[in-house]
Amino acid sequence: MTKNAIIIGGGVAGLAVAIRLAARGYQVDLFEKNDGPGGKMREKIMNGFRFDLGPSLFTAPHLVEELLTLSGHRQSIDFDYYRLPVLCHYFFANGKQFFAPSDSEEFALAMEQSIGEPAENVKRFLQYARNIHHIAGGVFLEESLHKASTYFKRRTLTSLAQIYKIDPFRTMHKANTRKFFTQEAVQLFNRYATYNGSNPFKTPATLNLISTLEMDGGAYLPKKGIHQIADSLHRAGAAMGVNYHFNRTVKQIVQEKGKVKGVVMDTGEQIGADLVVSNMDAFYSYGQLLNDRPKAEKIDRLERSGSALIFYWGISQTFPALDVHNIFFSGDYEEEFKRMFDMSEVYDDPTIYVHISSKLLKEDAPEGKENWFVMINAPSDPSYFTEENVSAIRSNVIQKLNRMLQVSLEEMIECEDILTPGLIQDRTFSYKGALYGTSSNRMLSAFFRPSNKHSGIKDLYFCGGSVHPGGGIPLCLMSARMVDRLIK
Ligand code: FAD
Repeated sequence: MTKNAIIIGGGVAGLAVAIRLAARGYQVDLFEKNDGPGGKMREKIMNGFRFDLGPSLFTAPHLVEELLTLSGHRQSIDFDYYRLPVLCHYFFANGKQFFAPSDSEEFALAMEQSIGEPAENVKRFLQYARNIHHIAGGVFLEESLHKASTYFKRRTLTSLAQIYKIDPFRTMHKANTRKFFTQEAVQLFNRYATYNGSNPFKTPATLNLISTLEMDGGAYLPKKGIHQIADSLHRAGAAMGVNYHFNRTVKQIVQEKGKVKGVVMDTGEQIGADLVVSNMDAFYSYGQLLNDRPKAEKIDRLERSGSALIFYWGISQTFPALDVHNIFFSGDYEEEFKRMFDMSEVYDDPTIYVHISSKLLKEDAPEGKENWFVMINAPSDPSYFTEENVSAIRSNVIQKLNRMLQVSLEEMIECEDILTPGLIQDRTFSYKGALYGTSSNRMLSAFFRPSNKHSGIKDLYFCGGSVHPGGGIPLCLMSARMVDRLIK
């Protein structure tokens, strides 16, 4: 008899699990409270400008390809992407600039020419980061850290035997100051901690492996924008027979004698299932859906990852000096993170990230104009983002960009939308608006991240950025793969 599975949430991980379970022969029903798929990965069209609302950087496209192939409908799904020739255009507070080529050899040489960091240092660093990835990646990203059998596997034991090589005993910043000669190189590589919402001045240097994802694997942009990832996974699942139910909120997970039985909707309707996967933030999955207060409190004691404040601006002209990804660094990176993680506030001189997809995707903005996604790192604390604070931050961001680009931006903003941590929380039920669940600021953070499988309820699983192995598109897709592997 065909077994049926229910997935709670249509974020990228929920969409991925739907394909994996359908491929296993399950009849799959996915319930999503919003009116379409994607979760944080949605898009908005405003006055002729298209904006991706959440993620802007796409790495490891093979993980999406793997799912489309698994669906058996790769040929009929429109999913294509550009590999970016330039990873990012960096602007430093001292006026130096660096166009980061995606080829790592060219990157090292360009860094020497632009900011004076010896190319040899960069090459040595990249080799060190690759080694960490090689030793730790397989265990920390592909194995469940909550299963005893993981610790008896040969590759786990081999990794543990080389633990000193993955550099877990000092912070990323400390390691990077030893490895580079210039402050600019340290700041640039410290930035990779933000790819999972962590603090480079606290997170272990092991996270230097993140840079290899982009430096070796490349950075990409789907030809119809990042939302196309969610859209393609949704279409592939639909072609396999997955039933998607939008505007439907799950209120409770039902279990009986330690075995999952189904869910209860907010309408009171009860729906039975042989297996349930929650893509809802783990804090709410335990606290609300399972009414397991102690577990939710345990998760609450873990530090949240960072959040973001984003301004979406339709800009009335083009900026040839800018690229698809641009970073305007803070003059004091350490202070910026201290304010964010220790004081729950935004520093006066924030690092500003400007993403302009219309540089490549011409239909994303009217001719002669650009779609600016302007983001700053922000504490996962919705209460900080009062109208007054957001308005002050906005003025600060505009002033800094005006100064660094020698322009008058206010006059160029044709239309605007703003996303705050509070809105991220409301729209996707992400606790405190954290982008990546819990932070990785402690040495053992990976081991404290909630598991992909419930320890006491049979056939109940969890996927998404708030559980193992973590947030960001690639890790969310890996969490879906982990669920698939854990199902007997
Ligand atoms: P989510 O996207 O959180 O979706 C969960 C879904 O479940 C939501 O749609 C929600 O409505 C639904 N849901 C929850 N509870 C229920 C319920 N009870 N009933 C029904 N439905 C429910 N990652 C990158 O890789 N690169 C980037 O450049 C990047 N930048 C980012 C920028 C921003 C502004 C944000 C917000 C995130 C960014 N991320 C980035 C992170 C990335 O977007 C996330 O890690 C990823 O999209 C999270 O996917 P998820 O599957 O965990 O679920």
